[in-house]
Amino acid sequence: MKSLTKDIRKLSKEEIAADFALQNIPKYRAKQVFDWLWNKSAGSFEEMTNLSKDFRQWMNENYSIRLLSENVVQQSNDGTIKIGFQCVDNRMIEGVMIPAADRMTACVSSQVGCSLSCKFCATGMLKRERNLDAGEIYDQVVFLNKQSIKQFGKSLSNIVYMGMGEPLLNYDNVMKSIDYITSPEGLGMSARRITVSTSGVSRGIRRMADEGKKFKLALSLHAADDVKRELIMDINKSNPLDEVMDALLYFYNKTGNKITFEYILFDQFNDSDEDASNLIKLCKRVPAFVNIIEYNQVDGVVYTKAKEDRLNYFKNTLEKAGVDVQVRRSRGKDIDAACGQLANKNK
Ligand code: SAH
Ligand code: SF4
Repeated sequence: MKSLTKDIRKLSKEEIAADFALQNIPKYRAKQVFDWLWNKSAGSFEEMTNLSKDFRQWMNENYSIRLLSENVVQQSNDGTIKIGFQCVDNRMIEGVMIPAADRMTACVSSQVGCSLSCKFCATGMLKRERNLDAGEIYDQVVFLNKQSIKQFGKSLSNIVYMGMGEPLLNYDNVMKSIDYITSPEGLGMSARRITVSTSGVSRGIRRMADEGKKFKLALSLHAADDVKRELIMDINKSNPLDEVMDALLYFYNKTGNKITFEYILFDQFNDSDEDASNLIKLCKRVPAFVNIIEYNQVDGVVYTKAKEDRLNYFKNTLEKAGVDVQVRRSRGKDIDAACGQLANKNK
């Protein structure tokens, strides 16, 4: 039965070679198959045309390739594309492609739902159902890249792990997916164009540093003191700011990569002079850029976005203190594709 065959994309090249060796299939076949899977993104064994027909049939009887399928594709009036993907177990996830003049960015999900329940995030209102495997994350990139080429004639230039889920609570699969996306045997994209965003899992941050990861790291900060941060992000209880900052500094010292602090500016919650001054202190402690993020209103959330004049004032305050700061305007709001809005509404 096809459903009982082995998911070949869960195997490393060495594991495929070991399987093949049991059937006296030469090692170079494993290399060819691996190349079809991860470099050419083959969706079936039939496509693997440099393999004999008999061998392809044997593969088909013994293995399967469990791709995501595109379920709904929506385009925002600002060009942003959101794809609802169906997993083989029928669970749904979402990925987004954001076009800009200088870059084409894919925003990918790492889990079905999220266990962390941040108070401002639509994904956090779904329960975490399971982790995505490396192939399911890789497929989002492949599909979003196809859309990017189809609609804009350009390939993806950047990938951000800012879709549904907390990437560092699915550490192994996320790292494996980045390998497949960046290695020359895979899609060969530059690791420096990948950003992993975390709500602050200190252990995962330290592990990335120890493993010498070369991609960029963003912290969803959103409040610069423990009391306020705990009100909106439960994870701050187990991973308080002191610990997270130490872990980030450790990452910076090991990799030389500055951190990006994501800071949603909420009206009368984290937009005061004192908040700015706390944020400036954190930027003196850890070399960082600040992205001020426009809040996308989520149904049932008490927080609202900061007033425009307050946003400008807050930004200027940071700039005057020498902080490298940018404002990130929301994209794809009309199709619920903006940050924090991914919640499978079209399910
Ligand atoms: N779980 C990871 C990555 C996914 S969230 C993390 O939290 O970092 C991606 C980004 O969107 C995070 O910075 C998150 O804080 C932000 N976000 C969540 N809800 C939002 C909302 N309603 N408006 C704007 N940004 C939001
Ligand atoms: Fe999960 Fe990130 Fe949303 Fe928090 S902001 S609930 S960590 S996806």
